[in-house]
Parts: sequence; C-alpha cells; structure tokens
Amino acid sequence: MALSLCVIGSSNLDHVFNVAHFPRPGETLRADNYQLVYGGKGANQAVAALKSGANVQFISAVGNDSAGIAMRQDFASLGMQVDTIQIHPDLPTGLAAIQVSVQGENSIVIVAGANESVNSETISQYQQTIMQAEMVLMQLETPLEGICKAAEIANKVDKKVILNPAPAKALPDDLLKNLWMITPNESEAALLTGIEVKTITDAKSAAEKLREKGVSEVIITLGSNGVYHQNTISEKHYPAFQVTAKDTTAAGDTFNGALAAALLERQSLDKAIRFAQATAALSVQVAGAQPSIPSRKEIETFLT
Ligand code: ATP
Repeated sequence: MALSLCVIGSSNLDHVFNVAHFPRPGETLRADNYQLVYGGKGANQAVAALKSGANVQFISAVGNDSAGIAMRQDFASLGMQVDTIQIHPDLPTGLAAIQVSVQGENSIVIVAGANESVNSETISQYQQTIMQAEMVLMQLETPLEGICKAAEIANKVDKKVILNPAPAKALPDDLLKNLWMITPNESEAALLTGIEVKTITDAKSAAEKLREKGVSEVIITLGSNGVYHQNTISEKHYPAFQVTAKDTTAAGDTFNGALAAALLERQSLDKAIRFAQATAALSVQVAGAQPSIPSRKEIETFLT
C-alpha cells in the first residue's frame, strides 16, 4: 500500500451567498446565488491530497447530523480513510456562512461545532494512526492543544510534520520545533515573525526567523506571485503559473494538499512545489473550495 498522509483538521459545511454588497446593520438582503459546498481547511487539504494521488487518513470530527454523516460517506466514497472522522454526539457539524460580493471580496462567519472536539484527548486516541503515517499535515482550525500533541507524537518517531498556519494565530515555540515544514501565506508569515511580507526580500527575512525557531523547511505562499522556499542549503522564488483567476478560495489548501501528496511520492522539493502550484493554478480558475480541486489527470495534463 502507498505511504499514507495523515491530515488532521476541520470539516465544515460552507453556505456560500453571492451578494451585491455586504448587508448593513438592520438590512435584509436577497442573495443573487446560493451554494452549499463542503469546506473546512482540513477537509479541503485532505481532498486535495487525495485527488493528487495520496493515500489519505483524515482525523477530524463532524456532528451526528445529516451534513456530517453525508460528508463522511462522501469522503469515504472518494477513497479517503474516514474511520478517524469522529461523529460527535452533541456538537453540530462545523459550518461557515460565506458572503461573496460582486467585487470578489468575502466575509465569513464560522461555527466551529464538532471541530472543537479535535483536542489533545482525541489526538491521543489516534496516536497509533499518527505514528504509522509517513507524513502529517495540519492547519489551525481545530484546537491548538491537539495540533501541538499531534506534532509531538509524529516528531518523536521522526515523521515529517507540515503545518499550514491558517487562519493566522501566534504559535508556541514548542510546536515550531516539532515541525519539519511550515507553509504560511504573507499575512500569516507576518503575524508569526513580526516582519511585513511585501517582497521576496521580506519573505527571506521572515523565513530565516521561522527557521531560527527550529523549522527545517519554510515555504511562504505569495498568491499570484508564487512561493518562496528556504532551507539550510538553498532558497528560491518560484513564480506562479500565469492563469486568469476566477475564485482564489482554497488556493492555499489545494497547494498544501498537493504539495504533501507530491512529497510523499518522493518527488524532489523543486518538482513538488511545481506540482502544487499547478494544482492551485487550476483550482483558482474554478469557483468554490472543494469543487475547484482538480484531479491528478487534470494536473498532469496541465504540466505537460
Ligand atoms: P486561500 O486563503 O485563498 O486558500 P492562501 O492565502 O493560503 O489562499 P495563496 O498564497 O493565495 O494562499 O495561494 C497559494 C498558491 O496558489 C500560490 O503560491 C500560487 O502558487 C497559487 N495561486 C494563488 N493565486 C493564484 C493566481 N491568481 N494565479 C496563479 N496561481 C495562484
């Protein structure tokens, strides 16, 4: 069986409202369009890794409601290992109410729901699963204590831990020293280092600061400007593929899932970054989070 990737993170049901403008206090607004899609950074990255070719074990939690049960079944039918997606008896499936304006800006309200239960106790229950995986990929939409615990478990047995530190949050040094790779975007890198990231030179300084905390590999994603990578022996800016973006929601999630999948296949870092950037470039040309994630075949066609 292929080496497995353990993704730990959130699962949400996204209610997406396309609106002419964001409602003002007291205003009732009719949406121009409405879509119900699966989201949550954990689930988006798990699906991206799976569609990119990885064998994915997903540690997450949903509510004992129709959305949660359907989501778990749908992920299983895609080929994901879902026995580690807990069904919480009391908390609802996490949800996000996302308003997208005609200008393409978004405004999001999140209910964490069952995602709050992915704490250190839950992670301890899955210690064996984490230790058996080849690589662990996490984000910050589930409790930080669980993320710290998982990083500690994986690092102790020399497994590679990748953290996509989104949404932005200050992180304890103990967590950073257990990471193999961190993949912030510009604003997350700024929050973690205190360095405003506007240029490649800024990205270089921010990456140096993160490496001083013990992270071996730093990849800062720069939206349509691509990514900046730094480790002890090299540093490089990789420009993004030139495409016409329609909706950049989950570009970062798609990038992270595809990157982990490519690294698990033992692709070189250079090739894995190119593969992940291609996957993200395909996703920004399609609306929505999970619906925009391309298949392995589409990625390979794009790269040839
Ligand atoms: P999000 O929060 O929307 O999921 P993010 O801020 O975490 O995204 P970005 O840095 O915006 O992540 O994007 C991740 C990667 O996706 C970029 O490094 C780039 O390779 C690709 N990408 C993003 N936007 C574009 C674009 N407009 N054109 C081509 N590639 C893009």
